[in-house]
Amino acid sequence: MQSVDGDTAQVPAQIAEELNVPCIAYVTGAEYQKKRFEFTRIISGGSQTVAAKKLPAVLTVAKYEYPLFATFAGTRWANEVQVTRWGADDIKAMHIGAKGSKTAVIRVFPPGKSTRKCRQVSDAKELAKIIVESVKSGDEKAGQSGDGADGKYVMPSRRASLLERKNEATKKEQDDYDALAGILRDLKITDVKQIDDAAKAKILEKAGDHFHAKALDDMVEGFKLSDPAFQGEVWVVAEHSDGVLHPATFELTGKARELADSLETKVGVCIAGENVAHMAEELIAAGADTVYAIEHKLLKEFDPTAYRKAVADAIDKYVPQIVLCAATPQGRMLAPMVSYRVQCGLTADCTGLDIRDSSRKGDIGLLLQTRPALGGNVMATIRTKNSKSQMATARPGVMKRLPADPKRKGKVVKHKVELTADDVSLEIIDTELGSGSVNFGAEVIVSGGKGMQNRDNFDKLLKTLCSGLSTRLGAAVEFGASRAAVEQGFVERVHQVGQTGTAVGPKLYVAIGISGAIQHMIGVANTETIVAINSDHNAPIFKQCDYYVVGTAEDIVPQLVQALSSE
Ligand SMILES: Cc1cc2nc3c(=O)[nH]c(=O)nc-3n(C[C@H](O)[C@H](O)[C@H](O)COP(=O)(O)OP(=O)(O)OC[C@H]3O[C@@H](n4cnc5c(N)ncnc54)[C@H](O)[C@@H]3O)c2cc1C
Repeated sequence: MQSVDGDTAQVPAQIAEELNVPCIAYVTGAEYQKKRFEFTRIISGGSQTVAAKKLPAVLTVAKYEYPLFATFAGTRWANEVQVTRWGADDIKAMHIGAKGSKTAVIRVFPPGKSTRKCRQVSDAKELAKIIVESVKSGDEKAGQSGDGADGKYVMPSRRASLLERKNEATKKEQDDYDALAGILRDLKITDVKQIDDAAKAKILEKAGDHFHAKALDDMVEGFKLSDPAFQGEVWVVAEHSDGVLHPATFELTGKARELADSLETKVGVCIAGENVAHMAEELIAAGADTVYAIEHKLLKEFDPTAYRKAVADAIDKYVPQIVLCAATPQGRMLAPMVSYRVQCGLTADCTGLDIRDSSRKGDIGLLLQTRPALGGNVMATIRTKNSKSQMATARPGVMKRLPADPKRKGKVVKHKVELTADDVSLEIIDTELGSGSVNFGAEVIVSGGKGMQNRDNFDKLLKTLCSGLSTRLGAAVEFGASRAAVEQGFVERVHQVGQTGTAVGPKLYVAIGISGAIQHMIGVANTETIVAINSDHNAPIFKQCDYYVVGTAEDIVPQLVQALSSE
């Protein structure tokens, strides 16, 4: 079973935090060894085997590929055994679920139509033609832009008049203000002080059923507001491994810069680890004003509990108004624990972050957090309530990294945190990360999935196609893989593309025998043209690519290579 919690996956980590027990997320395997459980879990760039230093622990389990069939004896045993069930009341969890939620959904809307062409191509010959044309012409970037920022937000005090309200959170709020602005113009009212009872009566008369008296009172109060609802810096919690920053940290720093500029505040990056201050220069060049470095030898490896303590401690001290984490396995575990500890609302897995006002509700400069919900069938825009900071995790590959500016100046603040060995909840037994070098900056990437069936097929078909494309296009071509292909042993982990692999953005991405799971597609969102070859007519990737051929890799790839050589 996958613990998806309405696909935000934040409740398990928050339960662990409430119970003060270890949390191990995205578990893919468990073994009882040397009188203890060892768990294998997914991490960015690979997998890791860990043991909890104390039990019980909260585990979340990644989707298991094969159904497990119960034995007869197992079924009988399961019938007799007593299973202890705990509800929220038993664990006295007061801040969990809808009741304890510190966020509110303010808008639900259908997802924007993908701008991918999703066109079926009848044969390999036609596909070869399309491939050559698309790489040569360098199509306009296709794909669905998740980050729905439309129009730069400007603080009310910078607007020509305080009566100007053009950045309201919902369409209804915006429509009402637009209607009111029109009436005020007609009545030649230019100052909020001119809106007395007589003026209000005239406004209501002209407004018809657009808004009623109470709404007008609230809107007039809204006109008087210019200070933001939240104060403080915009923060990013950095992720790193072996002294290298995760690409998502740069993307979030770029987004934080945009948000902070709108809110006229500074960007802070909070980075925890054993020896991390040396990464400050890169973070400042990427858009940070201040780097909060939390260094401690117990932070050498990512431990959810120790990192939670370090980051929550810094948030408590500096109180940023916005805190962004990457929606990586690490960020999706750390952010809920931190938010629970500092008692702030959290929206997970955002694809859009935007500043807007809810003037008539008395709120200026709110962070609107937009994320896919209900399996991507709807989009929800969410705001934080009853919190001192607004927290969100954002999908890697959606926000844009700024070009590095080595001339940017910033400062490093060393934040001290008290940690003892008891703050470390997990023993790390083994970490398996991809090694070797791959040129994911290549113009063309050809990836194979589990549908390649075996390592021989993967090697043979992918290599011949890569060399065929490279000869025909005169471009650099690299090969990649889905996580399932890596786990099947078809190829080394360093080639994995996706949420926990590498996010790529080539001119052309050819996906062969890949179903189109969200964790894979996140990693190719910035690709210009996506081509898919899959034997299943209903493969989900067909709805997320530009061109596709239905057929087996074994049939289509040799035909495509042939067609490319004669094209
Ligand atoms: C926390 C987390 C992180 C993850 N990170 C990543 C990540 O970074 N990258 C990633 O890729 N996945 C990731 N995953 C896994 C992801 O959810 C999917 O399980 C994975 O992408 C599936 O890989 P696949 O498409 O190769 O395999 P499958 O989903 O099994 O699809 C195989 C496809 O091959 C097709 N096929 C079968 N035979 C043939 C044939 N002969 N010719 C052509 N087509 C054929 C089938 O129709 C099917 O569509 C992650 C999962 C979790 C929980």
